[in-house]
Amino acid sequence: MECGSLTVVAGVMLWYDRAVGQEQKQYDVIVVGGGHAGVEAALAAARMGMETLLVTMNLDTICQMSCNPAIGGLAKGHLVREIDALGGEMGLATDLSGLQFRVLNRKKGPAVWAPRAQCDKKAYQFQMKKVCERQERLTCAQGEVVAVTTEAGRVTGIETALGVRFAGRTVILTTGTFLRGLLHFGMTRIEGGRAGEASAAKLSESLKAIGLTLGRLKTGTPPRLLRRTIDFSKTERQDGDEPVPYFSHWTDELFHVEQEESGNDTPNRVSAYPPNSVLAQAGGQVPCHIIYTTSKTADIVRANLHKSPLYAGVIKGVGPRYCPSIEDKIVRFADKQRHQLFLEPEGINTEEIYINGLSTSMPYEVQVALVQSVVGCENAEIMRPAYAVEYDYADPTQLTPWLETKVCSNLFLAGQINGTSGYEEAAGQGIMAGINAALRVKGLPPLVLGRDQAYIGVLIDDLVTKGTSEPYRMFTSRAEYRLLLRQDNADLRLCRVGYEVGLLQKRRYEKFLAKEAAINAELERLRSTKDGSLTLEQVLKRPDVRHADLPQPEPPVPEDVATEVEVIVKYAGYIERQQAEVERMRQMEGMVIPDWVDYDAILGLKTESRQKLKRIRPQTLAQASRISGVSPSDLGMIMIWLKARGGK
Ligand code: FAD
Repeated sequence: MECGSLTVVAGVMLWYDRAVGQEQKQYDVIVVGGGHAGVEAALAAARMGMETLLVTMNLDTICQMSCNPAIGGLAKGHLVREIDALGGEMGLATDLSGLQFRVLNRKKGPAVWAPRAQCDKKAYQFQMKKVCERQERLTCAQGEVVAVTTEAGRVTGIETALGVRFAGRTVILTTGTFLRGLLHFGMTRIEGGRAGEASAAKLSESLKAIGLTLGRLKTGTPPRLLRRTIDFSKTERQDGDEPVPYFSHWTDELFHVEQEESGNDTPNRVSAYPPNSVLAQAGGQVPCHIIYTTSKTADIVRANLHKSPLYAGVIKGVGPRYCPSIEDKIVRFADKQRHQLFLEPEGINTEEIYINGLSTSMPYEVQVALVQSVVGCENAEIMRPAYAVEYDYADPTQLTPWLETKVCSNLFLAGQINGTSGYEEAAGQGIMAGINAALRVKGLPPLVLGRDQAYIGVLIDDLVTKGTSEPYRMFTSRAEYRLLLRQDNADLRLCRVGYEVGLLQKRRYEKFLAKEAAINAELERLRSTKDGSLTLEQVLKRPDVRHADLPQPEPPVPEDVATEVEVIVKYAGYIERQQAEVERMRQMEGMVIPDWVDYDAILGLKTESRQKLKRIRPQTLAQASRISGVSPSDLGMIMIWLKARGGK
């Protein structure tokens, strides 16, 4: 594609676009797509000092939750806490727009405690839109991007459907489910990225032209029901936890709006809920409800399977194994008498109820019968029908561990386009792509989080090393070092990183440092204070003793500090063991595989290993070891080959 030339006038970088014939501003970072990945990417880049442009198809759908209006849950809650610790927005937006907050898995060990919030869909969107619009150095623009422009293997900008070109030193694509999106309602197919929204039909061709390989995936969503047509007396009520378990490490700031201007750092909880929050408007938490399918539901599914595009073979894309449709559940678990479903409000200003667990791509009339076979929904009316969506994604093994494409430098991909599913997975990649695009512009080395450092690190390493042929979602079981990657210590793991790359604000970093110092001081006190023959630390190790049961320091430590101290003391043995494993793995991570390695020249490698190594081009021996099919003997041969050529 024809490009142009750069000039600097009065310190401002100008791009002369030959095709358009005029000079225009050149952005440091252009983000395509205003979903969960795009927004975190754009905010991160702008906060790191980059002139940033966010182009999205519809500014009114910024950060729309395409499916369930809920943030967090198992492993996803960890991702949100990590994004928050790095300086991202998802946690704060959730705290302002949540209408019910819970911590899942509280009865299990701290490694798997998982914060989750049911959100007000519109409040979440508007909050994110507002933050983007008010962010310095970030310009939000509406438009459909139809091509990326490149020159000599490097991205130079983008072009929209109106023929407008924007020049960018880096470009981040976060197109979600929109690339050649195709919606399925039974056998009826409609082009679209999401119900009611157009698909991005043209960009895929441009991506193929620069050498990216695209595949097809699918995902689905349940119907939304009209609240007053549901018989809630037949349901089980599910309330939020009290006190409200907020997501963000910085929620105190939301309680005292004036604080920001006055520079007063003392949290002032003048109200029970943050003044601008949905909880404040609703006057407290809003309940969800549990209901069940019946044998009639299963009968309807079985009688209509041939009308499901998935089972009739119409949908070619692979769906999420862990978020199955009701068709999948009834077929796969044929013996199960009933399936649990959740009725979840979509917001406080709407009567729409999300029926979690009843995702389907059956035709409308079958959906009505399915819904009305559920206990409590006998007379329920559907406001929005369920559907499945098929879309193009890019095989993530085409990316470096810092999310840049290998075929085109300065072009980054993040979110569902990389084969993931879920808002949190998208946001986690988005913030890393934003950070890395900014670091590239600044001429600094990329940031890659380790598998022992963050779930975000596990997520990206899995994607770029193993690839995925089905929508990838995060689970705690995907992390080797679960006890190190707890949601409660996300700040201890990542605030320093966020601050050092220039993303986390100073006042938040200082708050974190104070917390870290308080934890260390309290640990020291427990180690040096005796209660009879035992130190307080030894007493706290007993399973039945809580931090609150010990003699308290003066002044007492805040609750988050007490929780952290308790976990560190109680799980010290396990944590040490995992740290020893991490050390062993780090030695392998330190064995860098240089770019010039020639896998064809390493005799004895299995053909499958050779092909995968050539395609994925791992950065370290440890990353190579995680590629499925690459055996220890393959690793040995690589090591010998490198040593013979002066590699370390
Ligand atoms: P999206 O949130 O899809 O955002 C993409 C953005 O890019 C949109 O704003 C779009 O307008 C914009 N865009 C796209 N192409 C262009 C272009 N060419 N030019 C300009 N702008 C563009 N997740 C789950 O975890 N569980 C589920 O059960 C689940 N079900 C889903 C069901 C459906 C029907 C859909 C659509 C999604 C579902 N998801 C589910 C996925 C979840 O919505 C996504 O994982 C998440 O939104 C991905 O975030 P993203 O930022 O990558 O993309």
